[in-house]
Amino acid sequence: MKIICVGWNYPKHNAEMNREERPQQPTIFMKPDSALLRENRPFFIPRFSNQIEHELELVVRINRLGRNITPRFAHRYYSEVALGVDFTARDLQNQCKQLGAPWEISKAFDNSAVVSDFISLDELSDIQDIHFSLQKNGQIQQQGYTKDMLFSVDNLIAYISQFFTLKIGDLIFTGTPAGVSPVAINDRLTGYIEDKMMFDFLVK
Ligand code: ZN
Repeated sequence: MKIICVGWNYPKHNAEMNREERPQQPTIFMKPDSALLRENRPFFIPRFSNQIEHELELVVRINRLGRNITPRFAHRYYSEVALGVDFTARDLQNQCKQLGAPWEISKAFDNSAVVSDFISLDELSDIQDIHFSLQKNGQIQQQGYTKDMLFSVDNLIAYISQFFTLKIGDLIFTGTPAGVSPVAINDRLTGYIEDKMMFDFLVK
């Protein structure tokens, strides 16, 4: 199982990161399976960072084997979504960027990929018409709307599958909307897809 993540997919988040120009293609990176954090287990702030930020993202689960998938047929490769947090060591990421080095240590570390239970898309409308949100200590911190994605889920699957064979159970983190912020010990993060609570866990 692999976890494929997308960067720079929402214009307002790109703007808050001082990146105004529209990307020509998706930015892709991966996390290993050791990054998974599930079932509302607490997230422990790692020693190597003083600036861990949450990125709330819709997560798509691949349900059939495929490569070189066309956008037109991409919808046949998923039927469930979850809500995830792409935890990012922003201080390390900035160092990596300055060095022109890969992002992995800042993005793919243990427990950096929170994934909720999955819900069937039959329960939702169009995948590009989903609202999702994050509360930090009861206050709304991030609100996303999948229609705002620069690259739709189907276009992401087409792009990614040119390079990487997609297998059953692979997960795609589809990018974060605006509102990323640092987490601190004892923060409580609660995520919603539409009105449905998807996760609720503590930072330790
Ligand atoms: Zn992200």
